[in-house]
Amino acid sequence: MMEKFDPATQIQAIDQKDMNRGVNPAICDSATFMFEQAKTMTDTFHGETEGYYLYSRHWNPSTFALCQALAAMEGTECAWATGSGMAAITVALLHEVKAGDHILSSMTTYGGTFAFLNNYIKKFGVEVDFVNMQDLDAVKKAIKPNTKVLYTETMNNPLLRIANIPELSKIAHAAGAKLLVDNTFTPMIFSPYRLGADVVIYSMTKYVNGMNDCVAGAICGTADYINSLINVNDGTAMLLGPVLDPMRSSSIQKNLHTLHIRMKKHSENAMYLAKRFKETGIKYNYPGLPEHVDHELFKSMMNEEYGFGGMISIDMGTADRASAIMEEMQRLGVGYLAVSLGYFKTLFSNSGKSTSSEVPEDIQKEMGMSEGLIRFSVGLDNDPERTFQLIKKAIEATK
Ligand SMILES: *Cc1c(COP(=O)(O)O)cnc(C)c1O
Repeated sequence: MMEKFDPATQIQAIDQKDMNRGVNPAICDSATFMFEQAKTMTDTFHGETEGYYLYSRHWNPSTFALCQALAAMEGTECAWATGSGMAAITVALLHEVKAGDHILSSMTTYGGTFAFLNNYIKKFGVEVDFVNMQDLDAVKKAIKPNTKVLYTETMNNPLLRIANIPELSKIAHAAGAKLLVDNTFTPMIFSPYRLGADVVIYSMTKYVNGMNDCVAGAICGTADYINSLINVNDGTAMLLGPVLDPMRSSSIQKNLHTLHIRMKKHSENAMYLAKRFKETGIKYNYPGLPEHVDHELFKSMMNEEYGFGGMISIDMGTADRASAIMEEMQRLGVGYLAVSLGYFKTLFSNSGKSTSSEVPEDIQKEMGMSEGLIRFSVGLDNDPERTFQLIKKAIEATK
């Protein structure tokens, strides 16, 4: 067993008040920074000076403060914040490969990531294969001599399968490849870096920020790795420039301090619904109950107190039935018919027709996705029984 790791206490333990003793780090509203001496500027260009900032595409003090907190949460030395989750993913992937290299990705990856790997990165001569990450033998077989990256999500969408990070890490490292993990669905619940991943990626748009007021992303890893991403000569982040704005960094950082409370409540509410769906005989999918294929694996990897996450799905058979139920749930006030997740209100959508619609239908079938699947991102509802009753009413009204 690994020693206990507590992401929330890690964040709480860092002291980041500003120079005027304001309790929050100040917003640094500057794109460029001055130097007293020319030599210090030269050294900073070479990445050699502590406490100096050069230009906000590289580092900005406000974004740096957020990144310190993100690194504390993940147990990594460093982190870098981006303007979207897709920016974090594409920068991290492009940084690892050149023409002729091979990326082995999970078949069930986020739709945007799937589209990037399947339709876009190939034009640079990068080979990509998709594999069922739950089948470790298939993963081993799909590794090639030129494999540089193994890419997966800790919890996938919409079937909520869990990737075995310790085992995938061993497979990747034995092949001389890196394991990149998108932990968007499960911040604090899983700490992939501690489990053997080399790089942890977030869409902060979802749980990490939790307010649905912006898109943002993050890349977490060693200091050497982050420095290579922002190297002025060949760093993918520095050269493509998808940096997060300092004002937004500041607002996300404040939300990060309540992430642990939100995650616990999201998990508690989803677990409540799962148990009620089970009692009522509604076909559901939730990794927090023993019926889920990955329940034991989940337990072996989790930071216990944060629960099993806020994502749950029900299977209503057909897409038409799912549509009718979702419209009725919205009318009754369960939440919103909207993509995305990790919001304080409940959001729901039909995965096959929305967030997984970039994934071809034959692959959807292979993944075991039903066309009538409704995915919920369960909100912070104070009365989950009321939520359950409204969902039940919507299901009954559309029979
Ligand atoms: C939303 C999402 C992304 C993309 O993030 P954006 O912030 O929308 O760019 C990537 N991965 C997962 C798992 C997501 O849910």
